[in-house]
Order: sequence, then structure tokens, then C-alpha cells
Amino acid sequence: MAGRKLSRQQQRRIASNQKNKLSEQSCAVNNNATQTARVISHHGRKLVAETVSGTRIKCSIRQNLGDIVCGDCIVIQELDNSKTQTSYVVVAIQPRQNLLQKIGFAGITKPIAANIDQVIIVNSVYPEPNTSLIDRYLVAIENLPAKAIIVLNKTDLHKTTKVVTSGIRSLYEQIGYRVILTSVKKQGGLDSLYRQLANQTSILVGLSGVGKSSLVKNILPEENIRIGEISARNGEGKHTTTVASLYHLNNNGIIIDSPGVRDFTPSNTSAQDITYGFPEIRQYANQCKFSNCSHRNEPGCAVQVALKADKINLQRYRNYQLMMNDRIQ
Ligand code: GDP
Ligand code: ZN
Repeated sequence: MAGRKLSRQQQRRIASNQKNKLSEQSCAVNNNATQTARVISHHGRKLVAETVSGTRIKCSIRQNLGDIVCGDCIVIQELDNSKTQTSYVVVAIQPRQNLLQKIGFAGITKPIAANIDQVIIVNSVYPEPNTSLIDRYLVAIENLPAKAIIVLNKTDLHKTTKVVTSGIRSLYEQIGYRVILTSVKKQGGLDSLYRQLANQTSILVGLSGVGKSSLVKNILPEENIRIGEISARNGEGKHTTTVASLYHLNNNGIIIDSPGVRDFTPSNTSAQDITYGFPEIRQYANQCKFSNCSHRNEPGCAVQVALKADKINLQRYRNYQLMMNDRIQ
């Protein structure tokens, strides 16, 4: 990786730029009593936040603040403390750019991460990826909203790979998505992926076994993996170690990664969200004769006209109708 070949001086300069960037991007200091910070790890009623100067602070959370997740920008307040050590409390959550949520048991919505710029959908080229699943991810990402990138990993694996990757690649590139081919085993495409992560907060999602953790390990500079281990004092003054979920890259990129984020799977959504999640369909959907057109066989359907003129890919159209059949009524 290019990032690992940097000299110490270059690394320090980049780290300092990163901090400046973080302060410009999201978290400006409010006043002396409170300051803003970004949540980098969160466990129960405690969290670790990173201030604009890069200091990591363990905080407790004021009651009734609602859910706080990794990536949130928060306001923290220093508490007057008679003990030797200072303590901090989270007093507010700043408005979110977006919030990734999943539907858990009994249909309960669980927030996972906030303020995400782009979502990397990781697939293994063998066995052949399922475009229906890719499209479900894309619908969820379009609606977040965030930028979606498709990674086809394990390109070293199988002799039919070329056929598979070129088909899927052209399908999604035609719609306007970036597709990146990678092989962790052969170290292929990792620099392209790394460059795509610059200056953005990204997460990697995809089925188990496709190579998400392998990619993250290869992308993160060694020193950031170590920094991932946070040692901070708890209430009793003991050191506890937690693992960060938010990592800085040397190119100003940020990756939010945790088992909960990696396991994100899109859930069923409304007809409106599904149509919005297919950009090439949504551009025709509002030109149909009937406002409640199902785009199947109604007269004056602009989607059907576009499909017949090859402006909409048939596989995408089928996946769209599959999602519409499964949707929440
Ligand atoms: P995750 O569940 O998505 O996090 O997947 P892992 O990163 O744990 O990878 C699952 C398996 O795939 C592991 O045995 C990896 O060594 C292997 N793997 C990951 N990337 C590649 C690759 O590019 N090529 C090959 N052949 N194997 C890979
Ligand atoms: Zn229609």
C-alpha cells in the first residue's frame, strides 16, 4: 500500500492535516465549557469520542439523549470534579447527515452508524454475486442517502471470473456506479480502493466471507490498527481497553468498521423508496400516464418504453419488480 511507504515526517504532516480536516468537516468548538467531538467507539452508556485536536476522551452519556452511534458528532461537557481526574458527559447529538439502521428481532430498528459519506458493497466474484442482493444494498444506500461503490473481490479465484466481472462491471458502470476489482490475495486493486476512500467517511458491507475484514486490514495503516485499541480510565480510575470502530487513513479517509456495520443487510422498504433506489428507473417513473403506474403493463408507461429501448437493463428491471413484490404495503 502506498500509505505504508510514507516517511515519519510525511505521516506527521498528514496526521496534522487530518485533524484540521476533521475540524473543518464536522466538529467546530462551541465555547470553553463544551466542545464538539466525534464518536469513535460506543459501549452501553459509555463512549469514546475524538475531539477536533485528536484527543480521545471517554465520556458518559446524559439521560434521555436517545441512541448515539459511532460516527455521531456530539457536544461534550467537562464536569467539575472533586476527584483528581476530569470527567466528561455527552450533552447533545448534533444533527446527522444520515443514519444507517437495521431492522432487528421483532422488527425493532437499531441504529448502527451515522454521518456516512459512502458505502462500499463488497462482493466475492466466486461464487457469482447475486445482482438482486447488490440492488437491495443500492436501494438502501440511495435512500440513506450516501454514495455507493461496488467492489468485486477475490478476482484471483476462478477462471470464469473475467466473464462475471465484466458483465457485472458494465451493468453497474452504465448506471453510473463506480466498480472496483480487488484481490486481497494478489494485492490487486487495493490502491484504487484506497484512493476511493480519501476524504470520506466510509463503511464496508456485504455477505459474510466476501473479504471485508481482509480488505480493511490491508487498507488500514499498521499504526492505525494499533491506535484502534483505546486505553482510557473508567470511573474507578482503572484502565480499560475497548476497540475503536472509527479509523483514520493517511489520506484523510475514515472507515467505520464493527461487526454490526459489516453485517448490515438491507430490509424491505416502501414502493417510493424502491423506485428512488433505482436511479435509471426513477427518471422515467414520473413520466408514466398513471401516477400509480406499476410499470408492468399499463398503457403510457414510460418505464416500459425505456426498457424496450434498452435504456433500462432487464435484470435491473426484474430485480426492481422482485423488490416491489416483497415490499412493505
Ligand atoms: P468477511 O467475512 O467479509 O470479513 O471476510 P474475510 O475477510 O474474513 O474473508 C473470508 C475468507 O476469504 C478468508 O479466508 C480470506 O482469507 C479469504 N479472502 C479474502 N479476500 C480474498 C481474496 O481476494 N482472494 C482469495 N482467494 N481469498 C480471499
Ligand atoms: Zn410506468
